[in-house]
Amino acid sequence: MRTHTCGQLRDEHVGQSVTLVGWVNSYRDHGTGLVFIDLRDRFGLTQLVFDREDVPPEIVERADRLRAEHVVAATGTVRVRVGGPNPKLDTGRIEVLVTSLDLLSETERPPFLPSDEDNLPNEELRLRYRYLDLRRPRMQEILGVRHRALRLTRQYFDRHGFLEIETPILTRSTPEGARDFLVPSRHQPGNWYALPQSPQLFKQILMVAGCDRYLQICRCFRDEDPRADRQAEFTQVDCEMSFIERQDVMEVMEGYVRALWQDALGVDVPALDVLTYKEAMDRYGIDRPDRRFALELVDISDLAARTEFRVFADALAKDHGVVKAIRVPGGASKLTRKMTDGYTEFVRQFGAGGVPVTKCAAGKDGAGAIFETGIARFIEPITGELVDRLGLEPGDTVLFGANAWGVCTRAMGELRLKVAHDLDLIDESAWDFLWVVDFPMFEFHEGDGRFYAMHHPFTAPRHDQLDAFLAAEPGDRAAVEGIVSDGYDIVVNGSEIGGGSIRIHRTDVQSRVFGLLGMSDEQARDKFSFLLEALRFGAPPHGGIAFGLDRLVMHLVGCDNIRDVIAFPKTQTGADLMTDAPGPVDDDQLRELHVASTAEQDSAQAGT
Ligand code: ASP
Repeated sequence: MRTHTCGQLRDEHVGQSVTLVGWVNSYRDHGTGLVFIDLRDRFGLTQLVFDREDVPPEIVERADRLRAEHVVAATGTVRVRVGGPNPKLDTGRIEVLVTSLDLLSETERPPFLPSDEDNLPNEELRLRYRYLDLRRPRMQEILGVRHRALRLTRQYFDRHGFLEIETPILTRSTPEGARDFLVPSRHQPGNWYALPQSPQLFKQILMVAGCDRYLQICRCFRDEDPRADRQAEFTQVDCEMSFIERQDVMEVMEGYVRALWQDALGVDVPALDVLTYKEAMDRYGIDRPDRRFALELVDISDLAARTEFRVFADALAKDHGVVKAIRVPGGASKLTRKMTDGYTEFVRQFGAGGVPVTKCAAGKDGAGAIFETGIARFIEPITGELVDRLGLEPGDTVLFGANAWGVCTRAMGELRLKVAHDLDLIDESAWDFLWVVDFPMFEFHEGDGRFYAMHHPFTAPRHDQLDAFLAAEPGDRAAVEGIVSDGYDIVVNGSEIGGGSIRIHRTDVQSRVFGLLGMSDEQARDKFSFLLEALRFGAPPHGGIAFGLDRLVMHLVGCDNIRDVIAFPKTQTGADLMTDAPGPVDDDQLRELHVASTAEQDSAQAGT
């Protein structure tokens, strides 16, 4: 229907007769006998001009009736833009003088205009009329970036010998630690499928099946509350490799991320640093550090032990007690009393008691640095060493944390991020990639008094930890917590974009992990017999990773709302506002599925 797209015409087309199709983006009648229309399609905008003097009256009449978002076809001649070039448009040097116009489709009055970027309605309305929202150039751009990321993904992994293999959506529960979405079976009354939380077990079985290298761009389903960067239904770039060690996986995956950033943004990603979990926690208080700013956590436990300060002494008396400090350069003039008081409140939600503070100032007569205000008098005996260790200069503020290691690092890590935001210290143009490795295999949850797998239960102990793992008694909490896994996470700008591990390929090791997680042999067989069985039939050493595609795209397009990178996302309560899913079903349908609804009883109960 068209000779060109609305983003295509340039100087070299001047004089040509062209036909464009698209949506009316804007309509302007200058009252000078000229009507201007910006015509929009996925590819851009082109200015159409109607000259009342020149075109037949019926065309002017048709043009007069045009409204924003009508769909039209316009034929005319390309000319140099009479009003001078518009540098904001790719097609801004030309315009099309229209000689004929067809109205292809009318619109009702739209609830909002895709062209009105500055006055976007609330998100509910955007999701309800998603097709109008997706017409916005920004959304089209995001869809384009996502498409190119998918294309590059397939090309990259194809080049590296991966086979793209699909795994089932109707399957058994896969343990990634979230709630399952369940689907009732019609053929087998009382039995249910679970939607995959990930293809984890299938991809491992594909390795046992000799597929060697697997890729799938797959949908995963975790019935958790959606957040700004999380949807219950999301997409993974899922990979698995055989006959490899951790380093091999990391190399291939680093190459992938490099190719992706190069292709989408022209950014050269340098070789990634590798941090251990312990280092990341010690220095940044989080296992996905953002290193675009400093504010590192520095351990000063040895110095703190030499002060008379009760808060420090109490912390150091705890199991794994530590005292840490953050230097805030120039904080004395930037952090108000109100802010630092607020930090004490802030860290309480992470279990810490407060944030002792002091300021560094120049001593009199050139006598080096001294501390003023806050806990200054308590730390006086360690002034010189503290100044050296933190690299303090007059005008800096020091924030302290004192508690058991776990609580202290977590609270200080959160505080570090908060201070960085408050003082606007994050360089938004920087890219900070890194690997985090050597995670503990298990973490103990006080609540139900048992171990959980830090990654998932198929993650292998690091090869040099195998003996320690096999020797660890379930009752010996310290020994179990000390075992390091062969897992790895890839992090960019403080967000985890991928995670994986070398897997267990021995049945005895796998059974032991299940045991440590409190699963009886019977329970393990019940849930994972197919995996345990497969491992008995010649399982190759293997490992892999999964990237969160939605999150990758969020980074590539620079947005912080995951719903913006998904064509048809769901709201915080899991609703699709356009199709109105989830919706009710007929009793007949339920009966056929052997499902009885308890919704009525539930709401009756809730009402009483
Ligand atoms: N299946 C894991 C996940 O979804 C990734 C992996 O271990 O490869 O996080």
